[in-house]
Amino acid sequence: MAVKEELEYFRDLGFHDVFLESPAAGPPALIAGSMPDLPALQKFVEGCPRCRLSRGRTNIVFGQGNPKADLMFVGEAPGHEEDVQGLAFVGRAGQLLTKIIEAMGKTRDNVYIVNVLKCRPPNNRNPEPDEVASCMPFLEEQIRLISPKVIVTLGTFAAQAVLGTDEPIGRMRGRWRSARGVRVMPTFHPAFLLRSPDRKKDVWEDMKLVRDYLAGNSSSS
Ligand code: URA
Repeated sequence: MAVKEELEYFRDLGFHDVFLESPAAGPPALIAGSMPDLPALQKFVEGCPRCRLSRGRTNIVFGQGNPKADLMFVGEAPGHEEDVQGLAFVGRAGQLLTKIIEAMGKTRDNVYIVNVLKCRPPNNRNPEPDEVASCMPFLEEQIRLISPKVIVTLGTFAAQAVLGTDEPIGRMRGRWRSARGVRVMPTFHPAFLLRSPDRKKDVWEDMKLVRDYLAGNSSSS
């Protein structure tokens, strides 16, 4: 039976919808190791439609800082201020992160600051697993291109995403881990410190380990 007649036959039987088996091609998947540099990756990420967060964002927050940084901070996801400005950690939590970085003897310009998710979740809700899965290849490529000596993960989601674990942050913080050949120091998120300032001393202990390791005078290497 020709296609036209077949469709007419089914129409006469009362069918009104036709579903095609192969959906329209989506955006290309990122091939790990394929991006020559961060600007190329940023261009690739531009206009990303890969998850539902693309529909509510103002800007993609790619991350910023020194592309050759030896220290990389990984947060969870952009908040309101980050979404508006297109920059990571520029709200209240970001101001505290700036103080932490400066207390380590560094500046925001000589580290790299990024998030697991590049788009803001509505009302700052927690990231969904499928959103993390869609966005992780971008973070993986950023880690490969920057090749930092140390990654500091900020809060539960960043630690769990980077380390591929579901361990609670309370058990992970302050202990060296490793992912993709890079040393990882999980610590608390600055937004948590704003609510629980008594935990700042824990973060400072963690950051001293990182500072000393980068200065080459750590006994824990
Ligand atoms: N919280 C994050 O995890 N990332 C930001 O960029 C801002 C707040």
